[in-house]
Amino acid sequence: MLLVNSHYVSDYIIPYQILCDFDGTISLKDTTDYLLQAFAHPSWEDIEAQWARGEINSKVCMQKQIGLLDVSRDELHHCLDHIEIDLGFIELVQIAAAHHIPLIVVSDGLDYVIRYILKRYQLDHLPIIANHLSQVGERTWQLEFPNASSRCVSQSGTCKCNVAQQNQGKQSILIGDGRSDFCLAAHADYVFAKKSLIEHCKTHHIRHTTFNRFEEIYHPLTKLLNSDLGQDNPMMVTI
Ligand SMILES: [Mg+2]
Ligand SMILES: [Zn+2]
Repeated sequence: MLLVNSHYVSDYIIPYQILCDFDGTISLKDTTDYLLQAFAHPSWEDIEAQWARGEINSKVCMQKQIGLLDVSRDELHHCLDHIEIDLGFIELVQIAAAHHIPLIVVSDGLDYVIRYILKRYQLDHLPIIANHLSQVGERTWQLEFPNASSRCVSQSGTCKCNVAQQNQGKQSILIGDGRSDFCLAAHADYVFAKKSLIEHCKTHHIRHTTFNRFEEIYHPLTKLLNSDLGQDNPMMVTI
């Protein structure tokens, strides 16, 4: 545990950052799919099928699908009020803060949606890097990609590996569950994986710790953060 004044804790001696996925990791549901099911013209599923066949990339897919939304801001809020998060995330945020480790929500989902949901849990102070959703008419919305990268192997809307590289002095701890995390998994220093990210890590021989709920991460993460500030690599359990 650090016993120094927080002003003295510089980036130099705190080499970690936590990059945490949102949909399926913090949120129990995929919020984009949930909104499309609730409010988009049914042809959003045809676009999804085009993407699954490899005919369009995920950016084009998402942008077209968001263009099919027919929902007012109030209706959107009402829908989002029913989306729950893994409540263990609240303590994870506290653990990161106690160690003076930046925790950034990095998502290939919708920034407005993430901020709205996190606000219900008083967590909207967290930095959020995601695709930008904006309202362009009373019931119409558009999606932009301020964090895309042409070099991204996944061609995601938000290139998570690019986010990690922007802060190269820090070791990145990835917490995630799926496809949008694949590009970062190869570059992250530590990976906490659930669902399809586990298979991806196994296939690509990426060292990882599996989890289902955040509470399972507290112990290994605390051990990692206390491990002589990164000079002494901790044992990470690969399951
Ligand atoms: Mg996810
Ligand atoms: Zn990428």
